[in-house]
Amino acid sequence: AQPDPQAGAAVKAADRAHVFHSWSAQELIDPLAVAGAEGAYFWDYDGNRYLDLTSGLVYTNVGYQHPKVVTAVQEQAARLTTFAPAFAVEARSEAARLIAERTPGDLDRIFFTNGGADAVEHAVRMARLHTGRPKVLSAYRSYHGGTQQAINMTGDPRRWASDHGSAGVVHFWAPFLYRSRFYAETEEQECARALEHLETTIAFEGPQTVAALVLETVPGTAGIMVPPPGYLAGVRELCDKYGIVFVLDEVMAGFGRTGEWFAADLFGVVPDLMTFAKGVNSGYVPLGGVAISGEIAETFARRPYPGGLTYSGHPLACAAAVATIGVMAEEGVVENAARLGADVVGPALRELAERHPSVGEVRGVGMFWALELVRNRETREPLVPYNATGEANAPMAAFAAAAKAHGVWPFVNMNRTHVVPPCNVTEAELKEGLAALDAALSVADTFTE
Ligand code: PLP
Repeated sequence: AQPDPQAGAAVKAADRAHVFHSWSAQELIDPLAVAGAEGAYFWDYDGNRYLDLTSGLVYTNVGYQHPKVVTAVQEQAARLTTFAPAFAVEARSEAARLIAERTPGDLDRIFFTNGGADAVEHAVRMARLHTGRPKVLSAYRSYHGGTQQAINMTGDPRRWASDHGSAGVVHFWAPFLYRSRFYAETEEQECARALEHLETTIAFEGPQTVAALVLETVPGTAGIMVPPPGYLAGVRELCDKYGIVFVLDEVMAGFGRTGEWFAADLFGVVPDLMTFAKGVNSGYVPLGGVAISGEIAETFARRPYPGGLTYSGHPLACAAAVATIGVMAEEGVVENAARLGADVVGPALRELAERHPSVGEVRGVGMFWALELVRNRETREPLVPYNATGEANAPMAAFAAAAKAHGVWPFVNMNRTHVVPPCNVTEAELKEGLAALDAALSVADTFTE
């Protein structure tokens, strides 16, 4: 498309006058006006094109404007745009069947929501009703969504302003060797000590009070900390021992992101409930849900489940899911994420770490990678303080600006940059992105000591 700065200015002006943006001080932001997007790229009205290393908010797993998904949404709109959730509708039935076919174990019943946060809300409600217990355990360094229960479960600073009004949430530390809470020096120690800490937490809270334990299979926004071997299996055992419903939140990690359909498959664990959203239909139309085990489904076989949403299983969103899952299967998108993660991204990021003193650690799997940027590799002092804003965040802002100047839109959270492009990204696109990161890291290096 031809650049059209005037059109861009009008879009920006109306945004600035009327759109109230998430998580932001409204006068301190400067949103880019986006003119279009395709595949792994988007562009503005001034003729700048960016390779999107963020997949939006880590959800466009098949890229922007995939023609098969766009066509499926158009065809569904022409046939039956919407229909209330109490009815059986083809797109909804088919989406549920395709999801259930891929979820681990007997997670074969699908409750559809509008996104991730409400999926987490409903998973917790199901667990409380199933067990008759009140509490929920969740991890620090986590994100579970912006609604009241989900934000209270979140273990990052976005929770602080809302830390009231949702009783019974208890946070614990999950394993993270690079910044170990357990003085561990090996993955084995970190794993064993994290499990011991969790069991002690359960004991001191009173196991009979704990309904659910909720974990991101691989924590996403909090830093892509792939859990050590044995950790999730150990959590599964503790949940079984104490009758706690084990919920895996796969809103970000699911649908190909880790190079498996679900991250749970990397570890061979089966939770009792699993939440999903984002990648289920690459976010073309809002959709999320909870996959439910046979045992928990049985609780609501003859007793009504007290929850619902007007748009539960919206036909447009479900048609997008059917098409997205079809594309992922036909085009080998999950395999692509696994292969390019192992063969291209992982080795390239480790090579960057050797040359750039600002890189403290590289970690990840599939199309789900994090670089932990530090001021000092020995002390591991983060490049910016925890939850830094304004001047204190200047090094990360400079890093991001440099990446954008090189045509790449980076994912930045606190002192980390995440490499999370669409799961169907090509090797050539990745190389372009990695070259821009290389240049931007040289800017981050200037803040090291
Ligand atoms: N859970 C996880 C792991 C997430 O990453 C997110 C969003 O980033 C959510 C839940 C919330 O999803 P949503 O923003 O669709 O409500």
